Amino acid sequence: MLTRTIYELQNIVKTSDAESASEAAHILSAIRDNKPDAILLKQQKELYKYYDKYSLYSQFNINKLKQELEDVNNKPAIDTLIVLSLIGNFKKPSKVKWQKPLGTGFVHWDNIYSEILEASSKELSKFVGAWKTDYYIPLISEWAAQNRYLPPGTTEYPGYVDHAIAPHMVEIQDCLHPDSGISQVSIMKSTQSLATTTIENAIGHSVKYKLHNILYIISSKNIAGIRSSSAIDVMIDHSGLAEYVKPISQRMKRKVADNKYYKEFHGGRRLMMTSWHSIGDAKSLTWSMIIMDEIDEAPYELAGQGDPEAIFAGRGKTIRNLKIVKLGTPTTVEGRIYRNFLEGDQRYYFVQCQFCGGMQILELKGLGRDYGLTARSEKISGIEQIIPDTVRYICKHCKKEHYEYQKGAMIKNGIWKPTARPVNPAYRSYQISNLMSPVMFYTWTRVMQEFCETEWGAKITKFKNFVIDVLGMPWESRSNRKTWIEVKQRAEDYELGQVQGGYIITAGADIQKNRIELQTVSWGHEMESWVIDYQTFWGETKDKKGLVWQNLRNFIMTKKYKMGNKMIPIALTAIDTGYNPLDERIDSDTDIQTEHIVYEFVATTPRTIACRGNDKMKDAIIKEEKVKRRSLLKRRYDVAVSELKEELYTKLELRSGDAGYIHFSNRLSDDYFKGLMAEVYAEILPGKWNWKKIWERNEMLDNYILARAAAEFMGLPQWNSNVWDDLKKRINAM
Ligand SMILES: [Zn+2]
Repeated sequence: MLTRTIYELQNIVKTSDAESASEAAHILSAIRDNKPDAILLKQQKELYKYYDKYSLYSQFNINKLKQELEDVNNKPAIDTLIVLSLIGNFKKPSKVKWQKPLGTGFVHWDNIYSEILEASSKELSKFVGAWKTDYYIPLISEWAAQNRYLPPGTTEYPGYVDHAIAPHMVEIQDCLHPDSGISQVSIMKSTQSLATTTIENAIGHSVKYKLHNILYIISSKNIAGIRSSSAIDVMIDHSGLAEYVKPISQRMKRKVADNKYYKEFHGGRRLMMTSWHSIGDAKSLTWSMIIMDEIDEAPYELAGQGDPEAIFAGRGKTIRNLKIVKLGTPTTVEGRIYRNFLEGDQRYYFVQCQFCGGMQILELKGLGRDYGLTARSEKISGIEQIIPDTVRYICKHCKKEHYEYQKGAMIKNGIWKPTARPVNPAYRSYQISNLMSPVMFYTWTRVMQEFCETEWGAKITKFKNFVIDVLGMPWESRSNRKTWIEVKQRAEDYELGQVQGGYIITAGADIQKNRIELQTVSWGHEMESWVIDYQTFWGETKDKKGLVWQNLRNFIMTKKYKMGNKMIPIALTAIDTGYNPLDERIDSDTDIQTEHIVYEFVATTPRTIACRGNDKMKDAIIKEEKVKRRSLLKRRYDVAVSELKEELYTKLELRSGDAGYIHFSNRLSDDYFKGLMAEVYAEILPGKWNWKKIWERNEMLDNYILARAAAEFMGLPQWNSNVWDDLKKRINAM
């Protein structure tokens, strides 16, 4: 082995059996780390064979020795070891003894040339750099494109793996290359994501280059067996890997069961396929690549052994170049794959608009968005059907439309972008939906047809499966709340603009750049409430003399609602100050010199209060604050928005007749109900829960909350039935 050149040794590492590879690697690392004696001392008895070389080199001066290092790659390893040892001896005397061939005694280091004064560590590191690039392992995607052949009968589209049809899979597999620096990859995927096939590429690549001992864990042993014979064996047979598998007899000698769950390869590498419940089989061995497939199906705990996911993650920590792959279709926001997705850097695939070049995530239109995938449908013999010609993707930026045939080009120019800071820089996570699938596997038309069959979200079980299987997203189960359709379905048949119940009317106004939206609610005993009006005032709100503000003031001051034969005004309107249209900035107490349009409006409009959402406030629903800005207005109010959202969503679970029930008119638009249900309470970061928007527009939620805050300001929740009865009498006597 010592007479092999560096190049030859590198080849031995790559292609020989475990013992030879390990010996060759040992020599290479001794040279690389400038520790020649580690090898020479071990080979002491053999060194006489190389005495002539030693004798020759020991005559050299320092410059000549350095020259010898220039050509290190093409020299037998022993030459380099001798040269390094001679140079190094001047820093620290070597313990190596060189026996002369005829047994005439030993040569000691003190005999040799004494003009060598320094070890040439700089030269060494130069060579080391060169070795690393020589030792080249192709990328996994490169290996797959050239070698991974999917034969007919195993797939609808046989042939070599073609990254052109799913370019987003390239980066994911290449994370598993030894040089990537990534140790954990989580893939939250839809059902037709190609992720499983892609991860198999990493297994094939590892077999070829002897990289890993691989443990593959999946939901059941039966599925592990099927995956082994239908995917792994096929890959071995058709992708040039058969010669790397150790024959059965050799495996039998090692007393390891010879079955489809366990394989050994040349280079001493192994692959075990097992299930979550059988991982005890794998515990006695070490693994450097652990693939956890359909991870949401892992049990919460294995009897007496704790969390199965943690067992291997913890054990792998000492292994160099450990790769952990977690993949699966999500279940709920508490499921394992979603939690792992949140721990990583949360990569989404941004595709490119073919018109404006804008980058965007492929999404469905309709969930409050004015962009995304959309289509028209029609009823054909009583069944709602998507009209294929109308399926199109509207660009988020320029609103131009893309048809299915343009999907490939959008994806080809796409890029994975991280959207969060991972808990560990070596963790990556990816989200894949069927909107990204190659046309031959899953069309946009099919996505829309399946969405249509959920009745656009109304059939809740179907919709849940659609979100998980097609969109590749977890189902938000924590709040366990109603969908907008369910809230709309229980709306009552009454006209807007008149009082249906209750005796006090409040309103909430939400300020946007180009409009103001106002919701009116009437209140009764025990805070039973009726949404009785919803108005939008259009116009640029930064123009403080503009029509939009005049119309709002006029409405607040003069609007009256019919109650029986009486007309009742709005008692109080709460207006959001969160956004200042004048400078388009968020309301802030540090910004005390700028004028805030809403503050001035409130100061000059009777029966209004200025309110600002404060999601950290817990001790009160509404709290008075001094205005620190230069303003006519002296007081504004912080509102505990988190509490009030929680209250609203809890009340929506009530049944008609329960105290505090909220009544809606079925004249309110779909957008109203979508907006009202715009947010869910969800885990936005591991362990961190907060309100999260699921629809783009949420003004309907915000201004309901404001109307509720106005009721709080008036003290309505404290009114008992005597007060309400009194009020009723006074109104009837008007
Ligand atoms: Zn565009």
